[in-house]
Amino acid sequence: MPDDDFGYTAWGRDWVRLAQPLRQTRPNPLLPRARKLARVGGAQVTLDGRTVRGVVQRGRNTWVVGIEVAPMSRETIAGITGQLSGARPILTDDVHRVLTETGHSPAPVLAGVECSCSDDTGCCIHVLAVYYEMARRVDDDPRIALDVQDFSRASSGGTRPATAALPQRWIALNALDPAGYFTVSK
Ligand SMILES: [Zn+2]
Repeated sequence: MPDDDFGYTAWGRDWVRLAQPLRQTRPNPLLPRARKLARVGGAQVTLDGRTVRGVVQRGRNTWVVGIEVAPMSRETIAGITGQLSGARPILTDDVHRVLTETGHSPAPVLAGVECSCSDDTGCCIHVLAVYYEMARRVDDDPRIALDVQDFSRASSGGTRPATAALPQRWIALNALDPAGYFTVSK
């Protein structure tokens, strides 16, 4: 079962799907190599807002991958927020399934892909390795899948300036502790 290392959660699987689209019927010979590259730590990923930066090393060569993820639509953010409850909702496969079934798929949509190699198709082995590395990261912490689409910035008041302008309506009611309002500091 060579694929089970990546995308064992529904959230991570969305990133595996970028490397292995369902519509792709012929086997892509690059995929096993890309998986191996990710598995041995050859693809380092850093996240900056909606930008995924990958540094891919093979032998003595290094390539730089940039992937820009499109922001979620307001409708999708609202739909997802409606499904999540509590201050720290757990993003289970069930949550993912319900979101998808209600028309609010949390799967990432890419706005742009680039790599420093000579392949400009956007699906070179380096980009594929970064997709797998992202799948692994998202499996470990599915919140990344939403963060990279600007979900938390738009919904929960993170640290970015843009959140200051957003009302706190996204906070689930049961996340608020009424006792907090009546505490007198000593
Ligand atoms: Zn490349």
